Amino acid sequence: MKQSFKEFQLDSSILQALERLEYVSPTDVQQEVIPVFLENKDLIVQSKTGSGKTAAFAIPLCNKIDWLENKAQALVLTPTRELAQQIKQDIINIGRFKRVSATTVVGKQSYEKQKLALKQKNHVVVGTPGRVLDHLEKGTLPIDEIRYVVIDEADELFNMGFIDQVEAIIEKLPANRITTLFSATFPEEVESLCRSYMDAPVTIKLDKVSQTKNPITHKAMYVADDNKLDLLQSILITENPDRCIVFCRTQQKVDTLVNQLKAWHYPAEKIHGGMKQEDRFQVMDAFKSGSFRYLIATDVAARGIDVANIPLIINYDIPLEKESYLHRIGRTGRAGKTGNAITFVTDTERYYLEMIENYIGEELKQATLPSDEQVEKHKPAFNKKINQKSQPNNRIQKNLDQDIMKLYFNGGKKKKIRALDFVGTITSIEGISADDIGIITVEHNQSYVEILNGKGKHVLQEMKHKTIKGKQLKVHQAKK
Ligand code: AMP
Repeated sequence: MKQSFKEFQLDSSILQALERLEYVSPTDVQQEVIPVFLENKDLIVQSKTGSGKTAAFAIPLCNKIDWLENKAQALVLTPTRELAQQIKQDIINIGRFKRVSATTVVGKQSYEKQKLALKQKNHVVVGTPGRVLDHLEKGTLPIDEIRYVVIDEADELFNMGFIDQVEAIIEKLPANRITTLFSATFPEEVESLCRSYMDAPVTIKLDKVSQTKNPITHKAMYVADDNKLDLLQSILITENPDRCIVFCRTQQKVDTLVNQLKAWHYPAEKIHGGMKQEDRFQVMDAFKSGSFRYLIATDVAARGIDVANIPLIINYDIPLEKESYLHRIGRTGRAGKTGNAITFVTDTERYYLEMIENYIGEELKQATLPSDEQVEKHKPAFNKKINQKSQPNNRIQKNLDQDIMKLYFNGGKKKKIRALDFVGTITSIEGISADDIGIITVEHNQSYVEILNGKGKHVLQEMKHKTIKGKQLKVHQAKK
């Protein structure tokens, strides 16, 4: 058992990022996956969301990236856009000090923008199958240097009907690649995918202990449909969670419920598949940073939500598919923390409850509804907290970003400027070396350069008087 990441053969730049991320010791899945991945072997991993599986592949992958290679070296396929975004952020965080760059290629976003982004230096491309295939077919995603393919949540890719696209993508990729597949369950279609496209894979199934180690308390509350809203309010008051996700079955119900909570002046927002992707990302960012406390969501949005410290999940409507239950409650009890899941069950829904219980192999504890006295007793504390601004929860991201300043320059490819030109000029500044320069993005009319190690201010000052390829560019700190 490795107690620390230092015991793996990892670059110091990766270890530095893990330290900043406060990943002290590897989780069970990381213990098993990292050494095998580092040995370049095909891998099949049975793992659940919340187990630290993203870092299990992101850590060795970032370690393997050849920084000098400009073309994509790794492709990660995921079932949802939110998950793609989350994985990209994890890769950027873990690869921060190695300056690993990553981009997402997902549906419902501008194809043209992605095309431009794919022309940049991107070590890793993370995407949903439909859009990735589109780019491959149109030749806008270079594949000849792809050495690593990660298929994440393979069972979900299958459930959502993406398996054919995944196969079509794999068939286009170079044969001398390493393929890694993660899945919580192994239906025949996923097994068959593994048989067809993997080379003598190592199979990692976490032992019984870590599979059953369940930090989540599952409860059911019987309630009539008409009383759900009152019950929700009572629970929010008595439990008074810092954050909570409330799941509904339809977009319309989400809309109605969020409006109701807002009418009560509760800090609530919504996320569902009917919203624009940009809006969905914005809501997720706001939830992560602690701008509001109650997220009302449909199943579509459940996947890929990785927010630390969600103590309570409420299934306002019981899920009709047993797998959805696991995905929903997988949003709590993450990274070893404990969590609570409360599921509302109406009289006609007992069948679904049984189905879920059989599936998870555990009975949901029948909980009594909060009494009026209990609600009254908790009201003062609830009212006090509801009026308080919640604590932003982005300390670790800030920690990681603290020494980095992103600079904007008003010139790019149109002026025939390349990334190397920035490196040349910036390293000519006294006290600045190539190690102080992070990710460089050269677009048509503008460019962005990350300056590391707290030297951003100094470089910004100096660049106001220096030219790039003989051109004086306007420079200021980038907004994002
Ligand atoms: P995942 O299963 O990839 O969705 O990860 C679940 C959560 O665990 C994420 O919020 C990660 O940031 C966090 N995490 C992953 N690895 C570690 C680790 N070694 N120590 C602490 N937290 C971790």
